[in-house]
Amino acid sequence: MKLSEIGEFGLINRFSPPFLHGLPAGVVGIGDDAAIIDRGGGEALLVTTDTLVEEIHFLRAKTSPRDLGEKSLAVNLSDIAAMGGTPTSALLALGLPRDTSVEWIDEFFAGLHDLAALERVALLGGDTTRSPGPILITMTVLGRASLSHIKRRSAAQAGDILCVTGDLGESAGGLRVMLDGLPLGDDERYLLEHHHRPRAHLAEGRLLGAQGGVRAMMDVSDGIDSDIRRIMEQSSCGARIELEQLPVSAVLRSACVRHGWDMMELVLTGGEDYCLLLSVDPSAMASVSRAFRQEFARELAAIGTITRARGRLELFRDGRPALVGKHGFDHFLGTSA
Ligand code: ADP
Ligand code: MG
Repeated sequence: MKLSEIGEFGLINRFSPPFLHGLPAGVVGIGDDAAIIDRGGGEALLVTTDTLVEEIHFLRAKTSPRDLGEKSLAVNLSDIAAMGGTPTSALLALGLPRDTSVEWIDEFFAGLHDLAALERVALLGGDTTRSPGPILITMTVLGRASLSHIKRRSAAQAGDILCVTGDLGESAGGLRVMLDGLPLGDDERYLLEHHHRPRAHLAEGRLLGAQGGVRAMMDVSDGIDSDIRRIMEQSSCGARIELEQLPVSAVLRSACVRHGWDMMELVLTGGEDYCLLLSVDPSAMASVSRAFRQEFARELAAIGTITRARGRLELFRDGRPALVGKHGFDHFLGTSA
């Protein structure tokens, strides 16, 4: 059997069971955005890692090394945000082909340093090896959180309201601008910026982590359509998404019209939005929304509900069932984008 037949999540589900048994007390392993290690005194250590591979996650010729250095850290910060935590330190493993220019590497580290300094994340170490082909970037980030503020993917309950903390599809729009080599107007630049320089929703994660009414939370890395399934799996539930409620910026809407893009495909399956997807106890929704609005001067977008129908994702448009093609990005499934 080939990996392409079971896909990334088929693989994780296949190898992970023996590693989930016998973990020390207070340790939560595979299955969430970050691992959790209880440090005592109500505090937890969070650990997460993510890899960027040239040609899969970025094209060297079309990506500035400075942006890439920043993005390598940002995608990991996003997983700490998803747990309601604060990042503290990082380790970086690099695989570099021999012909990589030293100036390219300098710029990569300058971008990484800018974001690390901004978020007060210390680069503590790492590893550097020669790669026979693509550039490989593996970043590991450590963080901390109060145990009582940590939000797990497994905590969603039927009846919860599903929400996202930001607009969807902009990074996917930026990717289309880049791959299609479109001329750059203000809108195209805006979308490209979102693709190359994603912002981890750390402040949002911390605020939502402190809200008792927030149950499950994760970050949107593969696309809502794929990521919601991780919450459904971990929480043994289903979900219903109201397509017309998905937050889409005016810039992306007009770019979709101008370039003939399928907006729903970008919004549902585009990925790399790096906002947070969360489920909220309906009785706490008003207070959670109010806290979010007061802090960030924008709305927490309600996009659907958690249902009892285990494993079933229902998409509705204006109250009626809707059909949408394609699934979110899976690294190995033969049918993936
Ligand atoms: P994320 O996108 O937040 O990084 P994923 O949904 O991709 O997380 O991964 C699901 C879970 O599987 C995570 O807990 C992750 O740590 C774990 N995982 C993924 N790949 C591996 C691997 N090669 N070895 C061990 N755990 C893995
Ligand atoms: Mg994640």
